[in-house]
Amino acid sequence: MKTIHLLFGYLKLGVLLLGSLAGLIVAGVHFWSWQWQWQHLAIFIGTFVAIMFGVTLYYHRRLAHEAYDFTWVGNYTLRPLLQFCAAISCQGPFAWWGANHREHHEGADKPDKDPHTPHRPWRHFLSKASNFLWAHMRWIPHARPDIEAFVKARRLNAVDHVLSYGAIYLLIGPFTYALCMYLVGGWLGIAWYFAAVWATLHLTWGVNSAGHLWGSRRFKTNEHSRNIHVLSPLSGGEYQHHNHHAFPWSARFGHRKWEILLDPGYLALCFFKLFPVPLVCNIRVPTPQQIQRRLAK
Ligand SMILES: [Zn+2]
Ligand SMILES: [Zn+2]
Repeated sequence: MKTIHLLFGYLKLGVLLLGSLAGLIVAGVHFWSWQWQWQHLAIFIGTFVAIMFGVTLYYHRRLAHEAYDFTWVGNYTLRPLLQFCAAISCQGPFAWWGANHREHHEGADKPDKDPHTPHRPWRHFLSKASNFLWAHMRWIPHARPDIEAFVKARRLNAVDHVLSYGAIYLLIGPFTYALCMYLVGGWLGIAWYFAAVWATLHLTWGVNSAGHLWGSRRFKTNEHSRNIHVLSPLSGGEYQHHNHHAFPWSARFGHRKWEILLDPGYLALCFFKLFPVPLVCNIRVPTPQQIQRRLAK
């Protein structure tokens, strides 16, 4: 049973990898042939931005960490919009994503607890590359998160529950969006959508691999997380991953002034709070004293 589960997991990962890569290649050839129209470029950029905000604001800061709340109005406007942006990312059903991520924080780079640490015991000279690949994407077919415990511990709404079923997730997220892109740009519209999926998948997966190997550290934490500031704006702020591990409950990943400017996810939350009728509330951030206490001496 376990082997069948694993084979099925690798099959799904293979379809995702090859499908998104095919989209990237077709969109790339289309781009170089100068046959593209502006709507194709708009599909790529619009989808990329939508997915990055959906992943960082919904999957990560809201679903996994409950770092902010929606107001009554936000619950019926911004929340479904962000849920849809997260669903089109092809990063998996909602509770599955959240449960894996909670286990990542709780396991904190311990090979037997963290589902995707790159710090596993070395077995041979290729271990470093193999561990990188494991943390990047090979962990996915092996992941067995405690979804039930996650669902019990989090305040999920009806849409979160529904989008936690793989088939419904695929239908409402990727399939519906691909159909919309077909209506906008034909078959090539779908290729440009999957090119954006390819880019955002590797950016998100890179937080788990590169974000635990290379970059700067500032706080005392019990794992190997790193900040890669140069990639932070592209990922909605996600690559300030070490800052995030220091304060996992915080809705803000940047703590110094210049870091906040590299955290589009937090800036977006501030923007949504400024609306005449605010869409978000209870945005949790650490106090300067909490930051000071956590600094590595
Ligand atoms: Zn991490
Ligand atoms: Zn997190």
